[in-house]
Amino acid sequence: AMKRSGGLESFDSPGKGRGLRVTRPFQVGELLFSSQAYSHVLSVKERGCYCESCFTRKEGLARCGKCKKAFYCNVKCQKGDWAMHKLECSAMTAFGENWCPSDMSRLVARILAKKKVQMERSASERILLIGEMQSHLEDMDNEKREMLEADVAGLHRFYSKHLEIPDHKDLLTLFSQVACNGFTVEDEELSHVGTAVYPDVALINHSCLPSVIVTYDGTSADVRAVQDMNPGDEVLISYIDLLYPTDDRNSRLRDNYYFTCQCQECTSKSMDETKLKVRKQSEPIEPEVINNMVRYARKTIGEFRAFKHIKNILRSPPSELLEMCEQSLEEMGAVFDDSNVYMLNIMYQAMGVCLYMQDPDGAIRYGEKIAKSYSKLYPPYSLNVSSLYLKLGKLYIGQERPSVAISALKKAAAIMEVTHGKNHFYLTELRKEMKRN
Ligand SMILES: [Zn+2]
Ligand SMILES: [Zn+2]
Ligand SMILES: [Zn+2]
Repeated sequence: AMKRSGGLESFDSPGKGRGLRVTRPFQVGELLFSSQAYSHVLSVKERGCYCESCFTRKEGLARCGKCKKAFYCNVKCQKGDWAMHKLECSAMTAFGENWCPSDMSRLVARILAKKKVQMERSASERILLIGEMQSHLEDMDNEKREMLEADVAGLHRFYSKHLEIPDHKDLLTLFSQVACNGFTVEDEELSHVGTAVYPDVALINHSCLPSVIVTYDGTSADVRAVQDMNPGDEVLISYIDLLYPTDDRNSRLRDNYYFTCQCQECTSKSMDETKLKVRKQSEPIEPEVINNMVRYARKTIGEFRAFKHIKNILRSPPSELLEMCEQSLEEMGAVFDDSNVYMLNIMYQAMGVCLYMQDPDGAIRYGEKIAKSYSKLYPPYSLNVSSLYLKLGKLYIGQERPSVAISALKKAAAIMEVTHGKNHFYLTELRKEMKRN
């Protein structure tokens, strides 16, 4: 059934299935809607920095007296979260160091607990019900299914004492729905705060030229226009990192979301050549040499991703990682220009390692190189661009270079005023930071 709510309605989007469109005009920076989380969970590594209940970031949070692991703004937040936290509170103590469910299992446990008490449509389901989210269980390959099975096993192992667990088939469906429709809640520097489900936001289809961006305010998701929109226009977000050329974007989309994008950029591929820019040389480089280097770059980036995934990044000495980055930059740099997206990917990794090693000079060196190209290669109002300028601004402040710092922070603020809204907590903090310098 078609559902309408405040200037929005669901509709059948040609070639895409269900979608969301606007029924009135929206301007750049305007809020289309804000959605409470149906369910949310804070990452274990962020405990103590954010309130488990409302995701407020502040110092001096109060600890749960029982497990001593969850932190809250106050008694009100703690009480509000108890129905969810009780799924883990005593189990964490009982399992001790062996307590290690995935974020996915933790989130599904919360969804199951909420489903038991939530009988009516929740505030996050004004247009789409959680049960109506797409599952793609049939499309998953063995590797994906095995990952789901591991999450199911984790749910049984860590939550069966406090939760009525449905039968295997229903559980697999729910896990695959959450895998395809879950959102990663990120802070202003794009670091991972938690995971959440927003059924209404999950209705929005993908485009590589998105008309809206999702940002977070506590545990709520805000959907804001980054293009002017007219009545009848489809609401489109990007599901992926838009830095990469068309083939890479689409293999990402097929792998994780089981479709191929047909947006204007995917059809025209107008940015591909710029994104894959090769170094200027006296003799033109053979296409075969370029293709080989693209293959090498994809392999290297895949290896880095796997490496981080298994959390090795913290175990192996960072200097070794930095050396890996420098080596591949040298190898690729023989063929690729510094603005080539594969070069940028490795420079971004290298910047992260420098930040981790507390080497601000190194981080700034990489960051400045990246910033020049990022603004050209990403669509306007990109969080990847604003977060990079934030990081650079903070690094300059640390180096007591206030004028370059302010200029970087201003660039971030200009984007965030559109993506986050002028009154967002991140912007009030940012304005304070700029005043101090
Ligand atoms: Zn709170
Ligand atoms: Zn507790
Ligand atoms: Zn596309």
